[in-house]
Amino acid sequence: CGIVGYIGDKNVYPILIKGLQRLEYRGYDSAGIAIYNDKLKTYKKQGKVSELEAYVADKDIHGHLGIGHTRWATHGEPSDTNSHPHGSMNGDFVLVHNGIIENYAELKKDLTAKGYRFESDTDTEVLVNLIEYFYRLEEVSSAEIAVRLALSKVVGAYGIVVLCLHEKHRMIAARMGSPLVIGIGQGEYFLASDASPIVEYTDSVIYMNDGDVAIIEKHSLTLKTVDNDPANFKVTKVDLGI
Ligand code: GLU
Repeated sequence: CGIVGYIGDKNVYPILIKGLQRLEYRGYDSAGIAIYNDKLKTYKKQGKVSELEAYVADKDIHGHLGIGHTRWATHGEPSDTNSHPHGSMNGDFVLVHNGIIENYAELKKDLTAKGYRFESDTDTEVLVNLIEYFYRLEEVSSAEIAVRLALSKVVGAYGIVVLCLHEKHRMIAARMGSPLVIGIGQGEYFLASDASPIVEYTDSVIYMNDGDVAIIEKHSLTLKTVDNDPANFKVTKVDLGI
């Protein structure tokens, strides 16, 4: 339902929480965040963003790269386990997802046959494991390639943001039918499912196009298509639609 992400020098936690609060108007049943410091930590809870805040009050939330999500359940009831972010079985990836993976049952069957096991009932957990499956193939050399290969097998709608445990200096985002906005700062980037979490920090944005993948680092942004062609994009001033 709602997505927020950040990479830069600021403390990521307040940016994620404030961003999720800005997205609350969309309606949701659960909220969660994943933050990098030395490790990749995920905290998620059924209920309001304020419940997530209470839950992490005594946890280590230090870090400068992270993602957050408010969930509107489509596959799997609202629960802590079904909340996002979802991690892959071997812990290589975490992901937040808006939308629906329509062919998730078929993909889940294939992955199960390859030894993958699932904790949640979501379509989303299938996608994060599909990304990990490709990443672990010998001929696949980066998280970006794994994400593009996985998305080429997906039927459905998505806005996703992916973190890879082995590539701690970047986030990877992709859009098909579910909006994602990139906010451009000074040595930092913001990401959200609409501009409302971003406007406080920058008015310089890119509205991602369907079929595009963004590789976002502190000082660089690359946009390409799922097929690895250069993407067309435009840096614009924020449009709040009001
Ligand atoms: N289909 C996913 C789920 O049920 C994402 C729902 C959403 O857009 O929040 O977990």
